[in-house]
Amino acid sequence: MLDEVSVVCPACWEEIVLEIDRSAGDEQVYSEDCSVCCRPMTVHVRLDDDGEGCTVRVEAESD
Ligand SMILES: [Zn+2]
Repeated sequence: MLDEVSVVCPACWEEIVLEIDRSAGDEQVYSEDCSVCCRPMTVHVRLDDDGEGCTVRVEAESD
């Protein structure tokens, strides 16, 4: 089951939509390439306890 969440790319500041896989765990950290500028970002996902919402934070990859 996938949730769609809008975030702002830390590299180009465009709004992009991420698909969150709720079956992948309550806390997830993974890399995703921006669909606008193609630069990688680190995505932090925390699923809310109510089983519906989630908190998503993105940061630029530091290489
Ligand atoms: Zn971007």
